[in-house]
Amino acid sequence: MTTTLPRLVAFDLDDTLAASKSPLDPRMAELMVRLLGVVDVCVISGGQIAQFHMQLIDNLDTATDDDLARLHLMPTCGTQYYRHSEGAWNQIYAEYLNDDEKARALAAVEAAARDLGYWEAETWGPILEDRGSQITFSALGQGAPVVAKSAWDPSGEKKNTLREAVQVLLPDLEVRSGGSTSVDITRQGIDKAYGMLKLATLTGVPLDEMLFVGDRLDENGNDYPVKVLGVECVAVEGWEDTAAFLETLLPQLTDAAARP
Ligand SMILES: [Mg+2]
Repeated sequence: MTTTLPRLVAFDLDDTLAASKSPLDPRMAELMVRLLGVVDVCVISGGQIAQFHMQLIDNLDTATDDDLARLHLMPTCGTQYYRHSEGAWNQIYAEYLNDDEKARALAAVEAAARDLGYWEAETWGPILEDRGSQITFSALGQGAPVVAKSAWDPSGEKKNTLREAVQVLLPDLEVRSGGSTSVDITRQGIDKAYGMLKLATLTGVPLDEMLFVGDRLDENGNDYPVKVLGVECVAVEGWEDTAAFLETLLPQLTDAAARP
């Protein structure tokens, strides 16, 4: 439980608000709409905006324009930023890798994966994806089912080995482990802490008045940089945990909002 009430609540997406690459459960959708009624909300993820639409936005049917105006979307770790106004989602900015950076990142991660024997022949869609500001390696393809992904690298060892090997090949770029089978390559210093700092500047809400909820706040996790930044964090192990947390947070926020 939090000591002071946050002015803004930020969430990771995969395995925090929804199961990996899956739409929001109706229970979570209802909680999100209620939360948007009382406080600013940010969702920050390594994923692209299309994933935000499928998993999150498309399932917030009952949200009003006023609710949606309080929602801040940060795909690819905040290198892109979207806000809702006049009935549409608008990209406010995007910071992309240049062609040379992209070409070197794609070549390095493929070479390292083949070397290590991690380049799978049978996948669910392409292994490599150009997300503009990020190159992403997904061992089993972008559309792999959760069961297959969990079985591929249960200890996280393959992903960490690949991450280290690719980092050696790309000293000027940053290589991170992303989701359960993925490795992300970005410019240096691009992580969720980068996005949260941008968010503080964009909204005027200081970091110490924010709360972050994520499932990978462990040292190797993609949410860990937010914890290092000093933002108050809540660790969850899936969207059900997040739902339970929101069910305790919401009445406090609603009470505080009703107080004169
Ligand atoms: Mg996650």
